[in-house]
Amino acid sequence: MSTTSYWLSEPHEPLRRVELTGRPDVAVVGGGMTGCSCALALAEAGLRVRLYEAREIAGGASGRNGGFALRGGAAPYPVLAEAIGRDRTAALWRWTETELDRLAELAGDAFRRTGSLRIAADGEERLELEQELAALREDGFAVEWADELAPPIRERYPAAILHPEDGVLQPARLVRGLASRAVQAGVDIREHTRVESPTDLEAEQVVVATDGYPSGLLGALEGLIVPTRGQIIATEPLDERFFETPHYGRHGFDYWHQAADGRLVAGGFRDVSLQDEFTAEEVTTPAVQTALDEFAESLFGRKPRIDFRWAGIFGLVLDFLPVVGRVPGEETLWVAGGYSGHGNVLGFACGRLVAKAIQGQPDPLLDLFEPSRLVLA
Ligand SMILES: Cc1cc2nc3c(=O)[nH]c(=O)nc-3n(C[C@H](O)[C@H](O)[C@H](O)COP(=O)(O)OP(=O)(O)OC[C@H]3O[C@@H](n4cnc5c(N)ncnc54)[C@H](O)[C@@H]3O)c2cc1C
Repeated sequence: MSTTSYWLSEPHEPLRRVELTGRPDVAVVGGGMTGCSCALALAEAGLRVRLYEAREIAGGASGRNGGFALRGGAAPYPVLAEAIGRDRTAALWRWTETELDRLAELAGDAFRRTGSLRIAADGEERLELEQELAALREDGFAVEWADELAPPIRERYPAAILHPEDGVLQPARLVRGLASRAVQAGVDIREHTRVESPTDLEAEQVVVATDGYPSGLLGALEGLIVPTRGQIIATEPLDERFFETPHYGRHGFDYWHQAADGRLVAGGFRDVSLQDEFTAEEVTTPAVQTALDEFAESLFGRKPRIDFRWAGIFGLVLDFLPVVGRVPGEETLWVAGGYSGHGNVLGFACGRLVAKAIQGQPDPLLDLFEPSRLVLA
């Protein structure tokens, strides 16, 4: 049994090094989805970029997550619409759909467009699904009611909706691929290099793309993107293939799918010890792991062998909106993160958004994601 993430355990070519001499235009801190996408976008626009990662590329949440590639934000559509209005919610969702398409173009075999199933665990959640379906349809988004769930869960979950354009990633492969593209575009990537202070980097601008991992670089924002632990298991490859499509239910507390080789990848169950999971300590715990084991057994009617158990940290924000823009009180320090456990597509998209912002290209989404709102809240 391995405590490395299943995704990170995939063999890969070492990254080529490009040596950038002199002062970079932009230094990016964090080598996950956000940092790599930002660095690539900046280099493609002709800027001189250096990226620093304390561990290896994708070594944070980007190589440790569930692999769900979902449109939208961390809050369901009607919940977000209630908070920020229907028009802005629709605009945000359309933007994530476009970004997901761009991600798919770059991903090659690291992405499969399977759709995703949001499932209801009880009557109350079923009602929420009906409301989500109705609101999405009214606003012109593709969504379907899913009547036929896989046999093992038919009795347990009374309803589901299908988001047909979503999919599933091998996230470490994808982010390593983005990093390779960034190197080809001229980015100097320095792995195993922790940044202690933005001034050490001698860059015109610095982007902190560390999501839930405390970087110590964010000044007034430090700690307001709350480090939150998620835990996952991956079983042995299974012959029965019920869950090609990613499933998530109980308001995202349970999520699972089967990887291309048939392994069940199941995560969540944070709510068995909710308070303990607000931590940046990247370790698995018996309470959550036992819940995941029992869940896997309940799906297949036997105890599958567990080949991988791992933990990762994501950044939670109280209003469930990303945090993208200048760090309050700083002229040259930027942040992109705070995806509240929904950062595969959002991380890719926000990395590109902050790259545009640095180049002086405004976007209405930046008002919604304004970092200073956290300090003023
Ligand atoms: C268990 C789990 C399951 C998840 N499942 C999903 C899912 O299925 N779908 C989804 O959309 N999202 C999911 N998420 C969320 C998603 O993984 C993250 O939001 C996303 O990967 C964030 O990417 P990032 O590049 O911003 O940050 P990360 O990938 O976390 O990268 C940040 C990097 O910054 C580095 N770093 C920190 N401080 C410093 C420093 N001072 N100097 C240098 N480097 C530093 C860290 O080493 C880390 O590698 C999940 C998260 C977890 C933890």
